[in-house]
Amino acid sequence: MPLLSIVVPAYNEEAVLPEFHRRTSAVLDGLDMDAEVIYVNDGSKDGTLQVLRQLRAQDPRVGIVDLSRNFGKEIALTAGLDVARGDAAIVIDADLQDPPELIPELLRKWQEGYDVVYAQRESRAGESVAKKATAYAFYRLIQRMSRVKIPADTGDFRLLSRRALDALKQLREQHRFMKGLFAWIGFPQVGVPYRRDPRFAGDTKWNYWRLWNFALDGITSFSIAPLKVASYLGLSIAAFAFFYAMWIIAKTLIWGDPVPGFPTLIVVVLFLGGMQLMFLGVIGEYLGRMFDEAKRRPLYLLNRLELPGESPSPPAH
Ligand code: UDP
Ligand code: MG
Repeated sequence: MPLLSIVVPAYNEEAVLPEFHRRTSAVLDGLDMDAEVIYVNDGSKDGTLQVLRQLRAQDPRVGIVDLSRNFGKEIALTAGLDVARGDAAIVIDADLQDPPELIPELLRKWQEGYDVVYAQRESRAGESVAKKATAYAFYRLIQRMSRVKIPADTGDFRLLSRRALDALKQLREQHRFMKGLFAWIGFPQVGVPYRRDPRFAGDTKWNYWRLWNFALDGITSFSIAPLKVASYLGLSIAAFAFFYAMWIIAKTLIWGDPVPGFPTLIVVVLFLGGMQLMFLGVIGEYLGRMFDEAKRRPLYLLNRLELPGESPSPPAH
């Protein structure tokens, strides 16, 4: 029988995990496939690991990847996908915002021959207007800027075929904008619409500062357009300056020079200074990411790996 891997990143999710596992295993029981559920404990500070241990004791399909600290969702996902052994893998959030009941539908598309089946939100319940609006704007912006086609209103909830998974595993960049990486690998991809539920329990781990940095990671990993803006803007300002200079010279020759224009001078100096600092910042964003890449650190470190049906390594102490 083919094997399905479910990969679940979890950071401080003790309140939702039992319910998540109950709903997910009910779905898995109804499939004509073997299944494993890989939970990635992303350095949780609450009882997440204990809850996961209990689930593993009760259900032989459960595996636990225990990271050495909190690495963030994108890397936690990567760690889970690295150990997934399935013929297909499904990535899903632990907080039940992504309904596990959609899994059979994702599998159907996979059986039709698609390599990546992503769940596309028709609606997202229980989130603020500001979050929905910024998410909407962000997805539209990145679609225009990036050369790979990143589907709109799509989270990480999706199915990957074995070859899509193997392709993804070759992308080892540090700043991992997973939605972009999923799109970058290509292969036949298809979306399945669904309604995103509110969080079952617990709090979101993403404040606006984190989301902003996440957006910057997305844009800088998939587009160099911000770097080019400076050249074109510089060119247009230089062209404008040239004609303005001609005009000033002509004016001085014809009418003489009574030395006015201090306000203009200040405005121009401040404007250009601001622009220059801003584009230094843009270059800095890219440079900083190159710095992180150049260090070639591993993406994550494991505290303990407990695959389904295998004894844990290294041994517990
Ligand atoms: N998550 C994680 N590491 C983190 C933050 C979040 O593994 O540093 C997990 C979290 O446990 C959940 C998923 O990523 O399963 C999505 O997180 P959350 O629901 O907080 O994000 P939101 O749905 O609000 O975007
Ligand atoms: Mg969530």
